[in-house]
Amino acid sequence: MKTILITGGAGFIGSHLCESLVKQGNYVICLDNFFTGRKENIKHLFDYDNFECIRHDIVDPIKLEVDEIYNLACPASPIHYQHNPIKTLKTSILGTMNMLGLAKRTKAKILQASTSEVYGDPIIHPQPESYRGNVNPIGPRACYDEGKRAAETLCFDYYREHKVNIRVVRIFNTYGPKMQIDDGRVVSNFIVQALKNHNLTVYGDGNQTRSFCYVSDLVKGMIDFMNQDQHIGPINLGNDQEFKIIDLANLVIKLTGAKSEIVFKPLPEDDPLQRKPDLTLAKKIINYEPKVQLGEGLQYTISYFRERLYAEVS
Ligand code: NAD
Ligand code: UDP
Repeated sequence: MKTILITGGAGFIGSHLCESLVKQGNYVICLDNFFTGRKENIKHLFDYDNFECIRHDIVDPIKLEVDEIYNLACPASPIHYQHNPIKTLKTSILGTMNMLGLAKRTKAKILQASTSEVYGDPIIHPQPESYRGNVNPIGPRACYDEGKRAAETLCFDYYREHKVNIRVVRIFNTYGPKMQIDDGRVVSNFIVQALKNHNLTVYGDGNQTRSFCYVSDLVKGMIDFMNQDQHIGPINLGNDQEFKIIDLANLVIKLTGAKSEIVFKPLPEDDPLQRKPDLTLAKKIINYEPKVQLGEGLQYTISYFRERLYAEVS
């Protein structure tokens, strides 16, 4: 039985990862400061003897004995990571340094949850791992983008200097159940707005693109990448079906049967105009093939939010 630490384990992706690794029979320690995570996301896992949770902030060091670390702690939605940008930078830099230190001391393998945001507003499309990106280092998104870039740098320096066994995954837009109602990212915003018959807020003209990955595909990719020893990354994980935001809005209206209309709001500063992962490396190294297409994944997510909103009013 491996002991696995998951930082950010009460968050959206982290809670799915906790569940998969617990059910595989590992001893899972979920660590979270509950800034954007929720106890409800992991409540059902307390029925298992091989699960525990610690309230802790990774900006402060912690001593634990573990075999593997998945470092996911960091707010991921623009509204949340921009709420306290200096704290976001501390989480990515000091927090990742603390987790790399823990990996070094315990000789644990560590997987860093990096992001497609390291490519910024990309000029190369789709984005391969070799692309070095187009990030504004002083804009409102920089606390997240540059923090995650520095975290990758730290991983590779701990690898070169201290032989820490790293894995770096660059996650592209992922969605699914257990996102927060007020998460602020596009899929949850549109679904919650539609289920309330409110207007859907499209930023800009809606012609900007994203490629949306259902959470189960991502989690499988992360675990498979952690468990192979051929490549340390960085590796892209996501879904390479690209959609315009306006088309996503119309699809959500159709799938929910909402009476909502679309309203246009200003495009946030530095909002990337296009994004789509080049998944060649992931296919080669872990035979990665996302299975859940957008229509299906949205249905699962809509059912989840429908239940949550119903529970809130009843
Ligand atoms: P999330 O906000 O739901 O989860 C982040 C979790 O980290 C939350 O539970 C939060 O409370 C916790 N956290 C934040 N700061 C912390 C700190 N200092 N100490 C301890 N815990 C802390 O977001 P998510 O979508 O689940 O993202 C998880 C990880 O994946 C993040 O690192 C994010 O950057 C990365 N990622 C996500 C996406 C995506 O589309 N969902 C895309 C790229 C990268
Ligand atoms: N977006 C939107 N309406 C919303 C939330 C987001 O049109 O209510 C747009 C946003 O401007 C961006 C895209 O949807 O172009 C994806 O935004 P999100 O915050 O989900 O992720 P990121 O920009 O970090 O990829």
